[in-house]
Amino acid sequence: MMLHLPEDVVSKQEFGFFHELAHIIHVRLTRKLGTPPMSFCFIQKLMFPESLNYSDEQATELFADCFAVAALYDSPVASSDHYDEIRNEDKQFLFTYMYLLIQEFEDVSEEQFIAKLGDYLKDKLGADMYKKLLEQYGE
Ligand SMILES: [Zn+2]
Repeated sequence: MMLHLPEDVVSKQEFGFFHELAHIIHVRLTRKLGTPPMSFCFIQKLMFPESLNYSDEQATELFADCFAVAALYDSPVASSDHYDEIRNEDKQFLFTYMYLLIQEFEDVSEEQFIAKLGDYLKDKLGADMYKKLLEQYGE
């Protein structure tokens, strides 16, 4: 059915599907409507500092769009992602965040997320590589 629709409609459907799925996921994680996961603040500060003034509802919409970007990243339907202005590295970072959020971290505070992210990276990269990474970011 979708194959017979014009390409731009198909694209919107795929992005829209993941956007709506994100709403189900954040409700599951936070047990609240209209509230993004606590650790999403980490992404907001790093990538969308202007969004720190958003209402919970607006931040939730941003979370859902970021989830859709992450879900489509490097997928066979990557062209459905209409956020061309977001750099590929940033999309990869969003993918990693969403992956960790769902697979490992559930709904934790930004501070807990950063601590867990440090442990995760240390585990994945090894202590030496992790130290180098921190040095690179001036810590
Ligand atoms: Zn939405």
